[in-house]
Amino acid sequence: MLATRESDWSEAVPQQVQAILAASELAKLIDALVRKGYEVVGPTVRDGAIVYDQIESVQDLPAGWTDEQAPGHYRLKRRDDAALFGYVVGPQSWKKYLHPAEVRLWSAERQGGTFRILNNEAKPRAPQAFLGVRACELAAIAVQDRVLMEDQHRDPIYGARRSGAFLIAVQCTQSAATCFCASMGTGPAVSEETAADLVLTELLGPAGHRFLVRAGSERGAEVLAELKTSPAKDADLHEADEGVKAAANQSRAIDTHDIKELLYQSFEHPRWDNVAARCLTCANCTMVCPTCFCTNVEDTSDVTGDHAERWRRWDSCFTESFSYIHGGSVRTSSKARYRQWMTHKLASWIDQFGSSGCVGCGRCITWCPVGIDITEEVRALRQGGTHGDS
Ligand code: SF4
Ligand code: SF4
Repeated sequence: MLATRESDWSEAVPQQVQAILAASELAKLIDALVRKGYEVVGPTVRDGAIVYDQIESVQDLPAGWTDEQAPGHYRLKRRDDAALFGYVVGPQSWKKYLHPAEVRLWSAERQGGTFRILNNEAKPRAPQAFLGVRACELAAIAVQDRVLMEDQHRDPIYGARRSGAFLIAVQCTQSAATCFCASMGTGPAVSEETAADLVLTELLGPAGHRFLVRAGSERGAEVLAELKTSPAKDADLHEADEGVKAAANQSRAIDTHDIKELLYQSFEHPRWDNVAARCLTCANCTMVCPTCFCTNVEDTSDVTGDHAERWRRWDSCFTESFSYIHGGSVRTSSKARYRQWMTHKLASWIDQFGSSGCVGCGRCITWCPVGIDITEEVRALRQGGTHGDS
């Protein structure tokens, strides 16, 4: 049942109309989502990083924190204001919830001469509302939608989680040194075509701490109608625009022109030896990547042999076992594995799924322990030279 509506004006807030929500009203957004049966998940500080976890109140959000990122470097720092979304993306992405790292596909027990399947994969306890989804992350969700829901092999686990999810986007008004979404066409502005139910922009200017908000769906408009909002003024729209423009001013970029052909023609490029000499094949880049989706399946049984389980776990093309087939692994060298990953991300992904597999979030740059930078690797392939670095 809908709660009492607090504003005649906001009762009529249609999709795409921009309104102002006071920062103090954000708690009511969380309450409204909880009343509608959602588990609210959002950013919070843990172990020196901004991670995603269940949010029970605004106090759980990283107020006054920002992040400093560089190749192989991530630090949280204090801001001199109380911004709730004054940072970029952390090590986790929403695939943590939509395409979890570990899922028990089924368990079974021996019964006489046969066995009985006890249960299938666990669904989330309640539909989830993701608070603080960035533009590049919406693009990553759209990529995983295509791969896991819209391709010929549909993943019912992803489908069940994704279909219930309510997405609250927050436009970036600053970017990290590792971000390059602007060059990938995925951010920092949240386009009207994305699947966001609500789109917020945090404003901290002279008019105070507040959010510019618009609904991106009917259910988003329903939630918005439960909140106390006021009409956005030109100055609010201008402040939001300036913030997003500032975030688009990024020091890293990938030149995507003919990138598929570039990668396909670079199979024998000497740069692969150069990057292989640095790559530890640790798989961090694939774990943090919001679009990587590869998994392995593992069967286990207890010592009695009466109980067995089948688990699905994230896997990575950076492990030697990933390409194991009868007779051994196909990609035994780090050169072959890095080349496979980057060629898939930027080239064969386009042939398979109709878009790039990279949304420019920069996580693989930040969380690579040796600071390998995909934008620099593309530049080196384009520049050529004996070692691909001239
Ligand atoms: S590129 Fe970096 S993060 Fe990825 S496997 Fe190599 S060393 Fe690890
Ligand atoms: S390849 Fe790197 S920058 Fe691109 S989406 Fe994955 S983690 Fe982000």
